[in-house]
Amino acid sequence: MKTDKTEDVKALEYKAPEWLKKEFLLPFRSGLAHAFIFHGDTDGLVLNPNCEDEPGRAYITFLEFLKSIFDERRIVIIYDLAAGMKFLNPKMEKDFKKVCGLESEDDTSADPIAAAKAGLAAKRGLPQDPNACLPLISKVLGKCENVAVIIRSAHFVAPNPGANALLPQNDRVNIQMLINWSKSTWYRKSNNLILLLTDDISKISVELRGNGSGFYQVFIPKPTKPERIDFISNATLKAREKAELATDLAKVEKQVKNARGSKKSQLEYKAKQLREQMADSDSVIVLPDDFDTAVFGHATQGMSFKQIYEIFLQALKTGEPLSLDFVKDRKKTILNTEYGELMEIVDAQRGFEDIGGLSYVKSYFQSVLDAIKKAEYRLVPMGVYLMGPPGTGKTALVEALAKEASFNFIKTKNIRSMWVGESEARMQKFIYALRSLTPVVVMNDEADLADAQRDTPKGDSNVTEHLMKMWMEFLSDPRIRGQIVVISCTNRPDRIDAALKRSGRGDQRILIPMPSTEELPDIFRVMFKRYGIPTDIKDFVPFAKKTDGFSGADIEAIVLASFRFAGGQNVDVKSLNQAVDDFIPSASQATIDFMTEVGLLECSSRQLLPPNVKDIIQGILQRGLIENTDVFLAQIRARKITDV
Ligand code: ADP
Repeated sequence: MKTDKTEDVKALEYKAPEWLKKEFLLPFRSGLAHAFIFHGDTDGLVLNPNCEDEPGRAYITFLEFLKSIFDERRIVIIYDLAAGMKFLNPKMEKDFKKVCGLESEDDTSADPIAAAKAGLAAKRGLPQDPNACLPLISKVLGKCENVAVIIRSAHFVAPNPGANALLPQNDRVNIQMLINWSKSTWYRKSNNLILLLTDDISKISVELRGNGSGFYQVFIPKPTKPERIDFISNATLKAREKAELATDLAKVEKQVKNARGSKKSQLEYKAKQLREQMADSDSVIVLPDDFDTAVFGHATQGMSFKQIYEIFLQALKTGEPLSLDFVKDRKKTILNTEYGELMEIVDAQRGFEDIGGLSYVKSYFQSVLDAIKKAEYRLVPMGVYLMGPPGTGKTALVEALAKEASFNFIKTKNIRSMWVGESEARMQKFIYALRSLTPVVVMNDEADLADAQRDTPKGDSNVTEHLMKMWMEFLSDPRIRGQIVVISCTNRPDRIDAALKRSGRGDQRILIPMPSTEELPDIFRVMFKRYGIPTDIKDFVPFAKKTDGFSGADIEAIVLASFRFAGGQNVDVKSLNQAVDDFIPSASQATIDFMTEVGLLECSSRQLLPPNVKDIIQGILQRGLIENTDVFLAQIRARKITDV
């Protein structure tokens, strides 16, 4: 049967986004599938294939896009629970009703009773309920060629009831019908097309998501950087034109001042024209003088066109120039609303220069950065564990890595609930979110995890193998390799789930201990600089001696307190001494020694041990605050962690 797939040609001719070509147009064209589930940003904007004929409409919604490429089909039905069935035009609706027998084939029908019945049904209008609509659509799909069915918010028609819940009979019937559609070779031959749209795939019935369902899943990703740059350049076109007019006007006005006679009146006329032109142009957002589409394209990472547009509208309302800070701030709010239950999106502000000591970790991270820059992704670890007592700068290191790499920076929330229980849907949402935020540094703060796990039974792994597999598959996807670095921070590495640890083939586990006396002066310096606290103290070594065993966070608190002791003035030796003497550290030495011990025993590289590792071990042994110091020493020796 010859089929006329005009929409492919239309869509392929224009600059279709890569995902649309690869995941939809090509599989459909090659006959691989005729039933698709689109999920993700289904309400988002895409380039308008007809933008040349429709000035001012460079971008349209995804649904409008589908409509525009399907307009030459025989019938296009758009269904959703609230609006019922809608058609592209009245002719299609009439045709649909005819095929369903809701309207007579021929107005001069010889059978007046049939004509009356059909007339009555047509008058009553079309049903809205899915259980009434789907059978009608089935009929049309079975009888006609070149039909497209689009079901919006498909999760209401074929929902996923969640674990252990039973679906009502009606929903089960709908699901079965959708499966029948996707499996029908007749529909495929007839060039009929079924598209289900949902913002979140996990809300759709598992039956439709399985491999055997016949439905081909298409994730609608957030736009890429070049796509965002195009979008921003389009959205700011008028503003940029207006800015150019303003520059021209300023130039001409300056020339007017210096001109005489007829030259002057000529220039005055030109200035008048420019002023009129400016007044004519619509109210547009004000752009800063140094506006750069590429910089804004980068700053809007992880956002959809619609979300970017929203920011522009807000800037327009305020009348203030569209500053980069405004964009970053709005982005944080928008994305935190979108993904808030899963993660917190943080603006990485401090780099490596803001970390005192820890040079062995900084140089390791530098090598990771170099690998990212060179796109040598085999050298980028999939995951890193930073282990050690609290307040030693683990979080600060992760933030610095994100900042130096210019990656997004997110902190996971409730990571525990991701691994425990049937939370596949949550995991999937998390993965999609991360994908749209790449390149990204992900920080897992597992301090809470340790507490949660205390109550769970020991022995068997708690991590669901299936979730683990999803996570590992995601991390080893070549498309994201080197684009996502997951760093877990923990002070109880002995409690990391065995399955998680086993899985991390590319993992590096590094101990971040309490700072050494050599590192402390540097941390003092960093803290004075960070807070801009004036001081005439040049040598912090004496203070390092007095604060031996304190963490970076402790030094931070001391420096801030010293400013208080100095009455908000220059901090001298006396006020800093006062602050040191006044300070009570929060963690006990026994806890610190224990956390350092377990961290040391989990390290994965001898090269990445703290340079003063032997002193650390000696200190722990001499203090004798941990249980079984002899076992600890034996383990260090047996595994040749270091020679002590
Ligand atoms: P952790 O994640 O190890 O518990 P954080 O990174 O949150 O600790 O550190 C707590 C505070 O102490 C932060 O303000 C951090 O900047 C600061 N801090 C800790 N260690 C250092 C360090 N070595 N250099 C600079 N700041 C540090």
